[in-house]
Amino acid sequence: MGGLTAAIRLARAGCSVTVLEARDKPGGLASSIDVEGFRFDAGPYVLLDRPGLKWAFQQLELQLEDKLQLNRIPDVYQVQRDDDAEVQVFDSLERTANGLENRWPGCGDRYRRFIHRMQKTYSRLQPLQWMPRPGVAAAMRTGAWREIPFILRSLQSVLGSAKLPKTVANALGIWTHVAGQTMAEAPSPLAMVPAVIHTIGAYYPAGGIGTVPAALFDTANSLEVDFRFSSRVKQIRCRNRHAVGVETEAGDYHPADAIISNVGLGTYLRLLDDNGLAAIPDRVRDGLAKLPLQSPGVCAYLAVKGPTKPPYLRFRLHDEPDGCRLLITPSVMDPAVAHDGWAPARLLAPMRHDRAESGGEAGQQAFLQQVLAEDWWRQEFDDVRVLATRIPMQWGSTFHLFRDSMNPVMTGEFMRAGRLAHRSPWVRRFYLTGSATHPGQWVSFCAVSGVLTANRLLKDLGS
Ligand SMILES: Cc1cc2nc3c(=O)[nH]c(=O)nc-3n(C[C@H](O)[C@H](O)[C@H](O)COP(=O)(O)OP(=O)(O)OC[C@H]3O[C@@H](n4cnc5c(N)ncnc54)[C@H](O)[C@@H]3O)c2cc1C
Repeated sequence: MGGLTAAIRLARAGCSVTVLEARDKPGGLASSIDVEGFRFDAGPYVLLDRPGLKWAFQQLELQLEDKLQLNRIPDVYQVQRDDDAEVQVFDSLERTANGLENRWPGCGDRYRRFIHRMQKTYSRLQPLQWMPRPGVAAAMRTGAWREIPFILRSLQSVLGSAKLPKTVANALGIWTHVAGQTMAEAPSPLAMVPAVIHTIGAYYPAGGIGTVPAALFDTANSLEVDFRFSSRVKQIRCRNRHAVGVETEAGDYHPADAIISNVGLGTYLRLLDDNGLAAIPDRVRDGLAKLPLQSPGVCAYLAVKGPTKPPYLRFRLHDEPDGCRLLITPSVMDPAVAHDGWAPARLLAPMRHDRAESGGEAGQQAFLQQVLAEDWWRQEFDDVRVLATRIPMQWGSTFHLFRDSMNPVMTGEFMRAGRLAHRSPWVRRFYLTGSATHPGQWVSFCAVSGVLTANRLLKDLGS
């Protein structure tokens, strides 16, 4: 996503752009895959930041609504912890609050107050997402400075202060469970997600999230961006601490005035040549190598039989490490994805990166089998076929992920310390984009990061 939006922005500004992509198609983690006649989104399943994606499209002189049909999800998700009450989140605040009130008297109004507070926080903080390195001046101008105490807190602390039952707080913080981290580690902005769902909405693009990079790829092609697929970069060559070119595994060399990498941490830890590496202080390199990583977890792509009913997303929380599960049923949003009585569905389970890495292939497969053997999700359907599966190692090899990870996990600490800068502080004419450069990993954030990186580069080229 980051590479595609950066390429379009640069091409529109008149630059000659070459994209070197290791895979044989564009889109990275956000692309779709076809299995036995069904189209699946490989990774992402929900668009929670429509304004961010719209902003990125506008910067690329594209109208989001012309390119994609985004359908608002009415019955967004449910969370069930073993032997505990179920929490349902709808796009409607009233419907959600009434459901909570019925189960936990007094909770409905507390939930409404919490959502109103988070809506205010969101409107103050949102503009910062579209700035490369928001500083004091930006915080003063947007009113975001009022939210500094909020930013300094953890998700757990923010949700705790809402005085909601623990079951509800866990359901609202579900986005951190899917990222495989604890609420105490997670950044407070995740507490704004329920407010976003009730105001802006959660969306499913007709045809799946894979249509987002597909639309960007079409645009980039029309601007004559030169895509070289199956071109894996082996090394980024530097001279006198300037990035000067890129060498591929096949031995091709591409000289360039400037280079953008969408490989996140792996850029610094794997791709730079010795001249580039020498420019990075040892202490910084050690710090980068120690950042906690996020595993893509395990995933099963399914064909299911029987009526699929809302909600679109069903989360299940077990009281055990890596106890979060997610069942996704796209046919709830788009019945046309079903054929011959079968519909596509997906089962995800996050896995902590350290556990995935130390367990190796055997440990990852054992976890996948454990998830597949669970009854709770099978009971939803009359029949199930497992069409394909992915464990972290396979995500890593398919998408060329650094240590089989989706880059640094966005802990509160990392968010406050600042993610990887769009312009390298150490190597000149060298830039980074994608999830590692933005405080969040969503598809929209990566699209925004590509625009910001390209803007930074254009400014430098002009100066
Ligand atoms: C299971 C899962 C669920 C997710 N759910 C959601 C969701 O619901 N909503 C949401 O918004 N986001 C979700 N995400 C996150 C989102 O998909 C990613 O953060 C985002 O797509 C990453 O985009 P990116 O620009 O950082 O690059 P990537 O997608 O990582 O792309 C990097 C590209 O670089 C290529 N590459 C790597 N190394 C090299 C090399 N040496 N040479 C050449 N090419 C190379 C790769 O092949 C890849 O195409 C999910 C991700 C996963 C895995």
